[in-house]
Amino acid sequence: MSVTQYNKDGVENLDNLKAWLELRQFGYLFLAECFLIEPTASWSAFYKGHAALAGLCDYSGMSTAYDFVRAKLDALAISADEVEQSAKIFERLYDAPCEDAAPPWESVYVGEGDTLMNAVTLSVLQDYHTSGYHYRFDQHQPCDHIGLELLFLSQLAQDAIAAVTELDYSALYHLLERQQHFITKHLCAFAEAFAKQTASVEGAAWYAAVAELMTCFVMHDKDRLDIFIDKNTDNRSHMHPDKHDVLRAEKQFVIPFDGIKRFVVYCKSESIDSVKKTVVVAGINNCGGACSLNVDVQMGKVLNISPNTSLSAAHTKACVRGNAYRNSFLNHKRIKYPMLRVGDRGDGNYKRITWDEAITLIAEKMTSIKAAYGAESRYVNYATGVSALMRGNALAKRLLILDGGCLNYHNSYSTACIAGATPYTFGNKLSGHSPDDYIHSELIILWGHNPAATIFGHESMVMLQAAKAKGTKIIVIDPRMTETAVALADEWVPIKPTTDGALIDAMAYTIVEAGLHDQAFLDRYCIGFDGLHMPEGSKNAENYRDYLFGVYDGQRKTPAWAAAITGLDESVIHRLAMDYAKTKPAALIQGYGPQRNANGEQIVRGCNMLACLTGNVGKIGGSSGGGLYLRYNLPIMMPEIENPVKESIPCFLWTDAIERAADMTSASDGIMGAHQLKAPIKMIFNLAGNILINQHSDINRTIKLLKDPSKVEFIVCSDLFMTPSTRFADLILPGTSMFEGENIRAPWGGGNYLLYVNQCIEPLFECRFEYDWLTEVAERLNLKEAFTLGAPNMTEQLQRAYEVLRTKESELPTFDVFKREGGYVYQTVKHVIAYREQIESFETHPFETPSGKIELYSPRLDSGGDIPAIPKYTPAFEGPQDPQTEKYPYQLVGWHSKRRTHSTHDHNLWLDGVEDQQLWIHPEDARQLMIVGGETVEIYNDRGCVRVPAYVTERIARGVVGMAQGGWYRPDSKGTDLRGAMNVLTTSRPTPLVKGNPQHSNLVAVRRCGIQI
Ligand code: SF4
Repeated sequence: MSVTQYNKDGVENLDNLKAWLELRQFGYLFLAECFLIEPTASWSAFYKGHAALAGLCDYSGMSTAYDFVRAKLDALAISADEVEQSAKIFERLYDAPCEDAAPPWESVYVGEGDTLMNAVTLSVLQDYHTSGYHYRFDQHQPCDHIGLELLFLSQLAQDAIAAVTELDYSALYHLLERQQHFITKHLCAFAEAFAKQTASVEGAAWYAAVAELMTCFVMHDKDRLDIFIDKNTDNRSHMHPDKHDVLRAEKQFVIPFDGIKRFVVYCKSESIDSVKKTVVVAGINNCGGACSLNVDVQMGKVLNISPNTSLSAAHTKACVRGNAYRNSFLNHKRIKYPMLRVGDRGDGNYKRITWDEAITLIAEKMTSIKAAYGAESRYVNYATGVSALMRGNALAKRLLILDGGCLNYHNSYSTACIAGATPYTFGNKLSGHSPDDYIHSELIILWGHNPAATIFGHESMVMLQAAKAKGTKIIVIDPRMTETAVALADEWVPIKPTTDGALIDAMAYTIVEAGLHDQAFLDRYCIGFDGLHMPEGSKNAENYRDYLFGVYDGQRKTPAWAAAITGLDESVIHRLAMDYAKTKPAALIQGYGPQRNANGEQIVRGCNMLACLTGNVGKIGGSSGGGLYLRYNLPIMMPEIENPVKESIPCFLWTDAIERAADMTSASDGIMGAHQLKAPIKMIFNLAGNILINQHSDINRTIKLLKDPSKVEFIVCSDLFMTPSTRFADLILPGTSMFEGENIRAPWGGGNYLLYVNQCIEPLFECRFEYDWLTEVAERLNLKEAFTLGAPNMTEQLQRAYEVLRTKESELPTFDVFKREGGYVYQTVKHVIAYREQIESFETHPFETPSGKIELYSPRLDSGGDIPAIPKYTPAFEGPQDPQTEKYPYQLVGWHSKRRTHSTHDHNLWLDGVEDQQLWIHPEDARQLMIVGGETVEIYNDRGCVRVPAYVTERIARGVVGMAQGGWYRPDSKGTDLRGAMNVLTTSRPTPLVKGNPQHSNLVAVRRCGIQI
């Protein structure tokens, strides 16, 4: 179209066009404000807005849909109550992380769905730029927000008005064309979907009407603009709006308010960085994979994720969760700004506050609670949502220590029993072999180890597959036929949970009875196997061999004896024992599943004993029967500072330290650093963690405890999403995702590489990494210098920690290379064999136990305390021999799902298809309960009730039911969980010795839904 075509129609028509454009400018501005500014910020503006809508509806040049909308608006008759409620409705619709929301971003409705800052967002930004505009918004709001898109149209209209005034027809045509293009490409489908979503939200009638009007407005303008810029139009009379209508509309139309202009700027762009770049990051959640990943980023938008094969070509492969990272972490349900609780704890009512207010409040509470109850009353909860060098919980603890101290914790929820009990046998917990050793084994027994799902470093599955290909026999012992069993096992041994010790005893009995045990190994390296090798002063105590042969209790620990306990066939136990004794070398590898039982310590010690019995310890291709802790390289660490508070609780007992701190002692509760606690917990920092509710046992007990604000007085949570835990915070702070900051990540168990997480995009909304806001809290407390050690930012902190490590690990490259490459794989081949040094040079390298030998009998446990001194089977509470089985006959176990990393990703519904949240139950058990696959069942005990569909399968042992752990607790009005949060059913009673979490030992009953007992 040429300039003259407009010109030909004369000045009068241009006047009409100008008036039409003014109406568009005002209309888009008004609609933009409706979706960007909470109306009760100014009640009068709210009413003006209503009047302005009426004005727009009066514009008769539009379609009859406007009349419909207007009628609707008139019928709404906004009451004072509704105005009062409107702030809440606005927040629920557009800002707060609510389930029933109308996300105002185009990217959520188009293309990939749910994900912010993606290719759709990029295309919006590119269109802003192509039109010659640069966009700035001081709250890191994604540019495809409906309000910002409308505002952009308003800006185009405003500039078109100027072009008309200046008779710059070329510019005018360009601007009209850009409007038409933008509406067609972005707003038509988006506006319709957005309006539909808004209409579906209960109580959002006013906004639904505005959204509907906006849709009509957009559609109408698209048609009009089509005509205006039609190059070959024969009906130029339609090019212009009816003069009278325009004038009538102009007369009635009132500009409602222009608050947006305060914080959104569209200006002429100077330079456009449109180059796509690849940024190397790493998974930082508590996943055993620790993968290096490439992220394609363009103009601040995250377009794609793929494996970074340059570091370790053979083993790097993003799993299904990694491929869904964008949808998980850039999800529109993000917490967007600080929020302060306004209702009762757990009710989920919050109001938005500023960062400044939040920081002031934290500093005040730290000070006042310390003054009232002592520094010991402040606690940083166990959290692994960020499992990297810089993590909020460690940083918060650092600040509290600088401010006078805080209560410590020891243990972990992952490995309490294996880390705590292994040293009783071997002197330290480093009982693992590096995966490259698997290929040397002739037999591998994976005892509760499922690396196909937990990943456990890049090499675990790769090396197991290589061993299998070479001909190594693989046996999986697990109540469930896991993904690893399906992929690799020659035999699956479906044991009942907690009965592993009975199987171990029967295997030992069978081996010793057949004379297949390695007596020379036992004699040389061990104490406590038989009466001839008991530690001094314990000669008359139980030794393991005599225990096996019934010397003390008259019961030989035969396969028949164990079969009755474990649910396994006698012949299976016998064959397993023979295989293990006769195949050399053989690796018995413990996962972290069995040690999470109520008798976890004894299972750990029993597996260690079996490895000694067969002489596999310290041998290539063998194993210590231990876990997966090993030391390749030195760990990277932040500088340590000493906590003036010495008391430390087992992390699993934090709820006890709220409820009964005065009763907790070192003897009864594993308190370390002091005989007993000085104060109950009164303040909790729960940063990037879901232990506060979801991942701790007995959710209903914790809820009852936290609901009472006289117990814990102040809870701060920082997270990306409104998890079950953040719902119990007094103050919620919006955290950043792996895309929005830098960090350093090491793999589980000290694997042979180190990864760098580069920053891909600026933090979304008002989100901040904990380091930033803790620095500001430190400043309020005059501790900034001590907290930051003078470092200007977190990257500098990371570099300093790296340089310290580099002085000890000389092969590490410079920091710049490390950062640029996204990490480093150690080139020095380190083939780790646990306790090899002790076995090969025993005289000069004794074990780190008090005796210097492997202590199958532990003198440290022989005072009649929590567990016996020898590694014999001890029936567990909530095991199959517990009398409670009368009432609750099924054993419930959990596992790590492929669709989550612990509880991370549960909100990401894309991943639901990977693994359904359901109750696994054996066909025989299902038949007895008249349950058919797919029907909803209730699993319950005295602690609560969970309702999920049943999955009837032979892949689970009889008498055992199971569900993947980590589903986010979602109760109905009666408190029945509907998501499969298994911690509703788990016990908070700790394991006997190390006070660990026995979250696989739970007795439950199962019923068809609706059938009452
Ligand atoms: S979730 Fe774990 S295994 Fe999957 S990509 Fe991330 S780090 Fe790797």
